[in-house]
Amino acid sequence: MNFMVLSDKISSLQLDFASRCICDAQSIAIITHQNPDGDALGSSLGMRFFLLSLGKSNVANIVPTSFPDFLAWMPGVDSVITAEQQPELATQTLRDADLVICTDLAEATRVASMSSVLAERFERAQQEEHKYSLLIIDHHLSSVYTSCPHQIAYPDSASASELVFRLAYQSGKLSLNEDFATCIYTGMMTDTGNFSYNSCQPEMYSIVAMLLTTGINKDAIYDKVFNAYGVDRVRLMGYCLYHKMRIFPEYHTALITLNRREIYRFNAKSGDMEGIVNLPLQIKDIYYSVFMREDKVPPHQKQEAGSSTIKAKISFRSQGDRPVNIMAREVFNGGGHMNASGGEFFGKVDQAAEKFAQVMPKYFLTE
Ligand code: 5GP
Ligand code: MN
Repeated sequence: MNFMVLSDKISSLQLDFASRCICDAQSIAIITHQNPDGDALGSSLGMRFFLLSLGKSNVANIVPTSFPDFLAWMPGVDSVITAEQQPELATQTLRDADLVICTDLAEATRVASMSSVLAERFERAQQEEHKYSLLIIDHHLSSVYTSCPHQIAYPDSASASELVFRLAYQSGKLSLNEDFATCIYTGMMTDTGNFSYNSCQPEMYSIVAMLLTTGINKDAIYDKVFNAYGVDRVRLMGYCLYHKMRIFPEYHTALITLNRREIYRFNAKSGDMEGIVNLPLQIKDIYYSVFMREDKVPPHQKQEAGSSTIKAKISFRSQGDRPVNIMAREVFNGGGHMNASGGEFFGKVDQAAEKFAQVMPKYFLTE
């Protein structure tokens, strides 16, 4: 077997569509989801480097909210426009670009304050004359635009970064370089927990092998992402596990909640709380883990939140054949993958926890 040949995952129709979009565009804006993680940045910056290698010079990267410090070393981050900090520039760039590419993102609702301008672009792209002005490269299950040609969406792909790689590879125009490889590798690594879940597809490792030929140091990338905690963050982890973890043995479930006072005490920003949800899964016989953190309702959600000024952002994780995205969607206005989902609740984190405990028997398995 030749490990350097990948199957054609992306259909030729989608490939032709993407080529046409890219070929026609002078200016391109790439946007990814709010609270960007390694795959969000990896796929969007990887796309940037691919486009630059094609000779596209007017390429902007937009993130709706700031990215965590442990990703601040990534190549290309200096050019990223953070909408939270530069709202006018981000809005104008997204509005003016000939082509908008969404990576690791398929919904206009997951881009914080950029949601109305992105929704405009989604609508516009439905018109025949603007057909080639939108491209979505994503691995989330999304029912919204599944049948439209704009969407290169493969939920069975472990990362959007892998799909960006495949698009470049299948286009026949892939020129591997270190910056591109670093971004794609980071996204593949972070969305699989360093290849510890969703990571049994052999071709994933063919891609990794190709990336490594550029000379990137995967061990150093691991170190920069996963061994980069501040002291507060490690103490916060200890606090969560010792003081805040509730176990529901019958449902093989762990629940951790943090209110605003606790978050303030540990000086934690949202990126610092990334990954806490995974910790209880290390416990034997715990298959579901839920993490809730309190936050202020941001201005763009004021109407939705009604009288509540506070919300709980919720992360769900599970192992094996135990979906968490159904509860996330039906109860907490969210969604996501079968084993990794998220949602929110307008109100205090304790109220969210109470709600969760009520509905858990309906959604979680006892075996
Ligand atoms: P995290 O727990 O890391 O914030 O999110 C895990 C996954 O859940 C994300 O990759 C995304 O697919 C999904 N997710 C998180 N929050 C939301 C949300 O508010 N709405 C939807 N539809 N999906 C979410
Ligand atoms: Mn992803």
